[in-house]
Amino acid sequence: MMDSPMKLVVVGAAGRMGQTLIRLINDTPGVVLHAAVERAGSAAIGRDAGDVALIGPLGVTVTDDPLQAFLHADGVIDFTSPASSVEFAALAAQARIVHVIGTTGCLPEHEDKIDAAARHARVVKSGNMSLGVNVLSVLVKQAARALEASGWDIEVLEMHHKHKVDAPSGTALLLGEAAAQGRGIDLADHSVRVRDGHTGPREEGSIGFATLRGGSVIGEHSVLFAAEGEIVTLSHSAGDRSLFARGALKAATWARDKKPGRYTMLDVLGLNSTP
Ligand code: NAD
Repeated sequence: MMDSPMKLVVVGAAGRMGQTLIRLINDTPGVVLHAAVERAGSAAIGRDAGDVALIGPLGVTVTDDPLQAFLHADGVIDFTSPASSVEFAALAAQARIVHVIGTTGCLPEHEDKIDAAARHARVVKSGNMSLGVNVLSVLVKQAARALEASGWDIEVLEMHHKHKVDAPSGTALLLGEAAAQGRGIDLADHSVRVRDGHTGPREEGSIGFATLRGGSVIGEHSVLFAAEGEIVTLSHSAGDRSLFARGALKAATWARDKKPGRYTMLDVLGLNSTP
């Protein structure tokens, strides 16, 4: 019944994004917190999910049993780690439910397993769930196409809080991918992810990444197009994690009546056909 509230499981419930999601689900009509999952051994196991998210009891106890948690659920929202997201993808596929994955740092072997799960589940995965960054990626693609490689060098700069474990960020890679698409090149063959020592001059047509870490920064991203005597900078600044959570909930409700398959936020936001 499409009109009943969508029953969502938050995995990684005690994490920065998990807590933000629990608070937002509680404030959002049309979705309801069905279960909350943390890793075995987490201090959150056995506690009320609302207490963990600092909003007071909700009557949902945090569990370390995802199989049980996914029973009778409509969807899973997952901001955890690559290995965990692969496990959850298999379970969501078995349960034939929606799986929204915000986890970043996935390697090709993780992506392959998520692709396999998407044969049965409706998977929405994106390195950034916010409307702003997804619109930015469309602009980056257009700029990369218009500003040709012979005169314009592309660099992606990002900064995040000191706890972040993967680099470059999923968003930086998403923006680099958009630039590569605009140029009609393969990002893997043209990216320079770190520079150190005597690197020699910049290779024409490459896409460079620079990573800063520190403090509590939620997410700063700039794509610079640098030419002789001028620079075009396209930027996004995240001031609040709820913008990622809002995007994740939008993705879950959007995917509810879709066919099994793998989707991105560009599909959810209707931006995929933008040239
Ligand atoms: P975090 O470390 O605060 O939270 C992760 C949580 O997942 C932790 O509480 C951890 O215990 C839990 N977890 C790990 N393995 C688990 C398992 N097997 N079962 C249940 N829980 C498990 O991290 P965070 O800042 O919330 O970010 C989480 C992920 O989301 C990162 O990969 C981050 O880069 C990504 N992220 C993506 C977006 C986006 O828009 N796509 C936005 C923000 C963060």
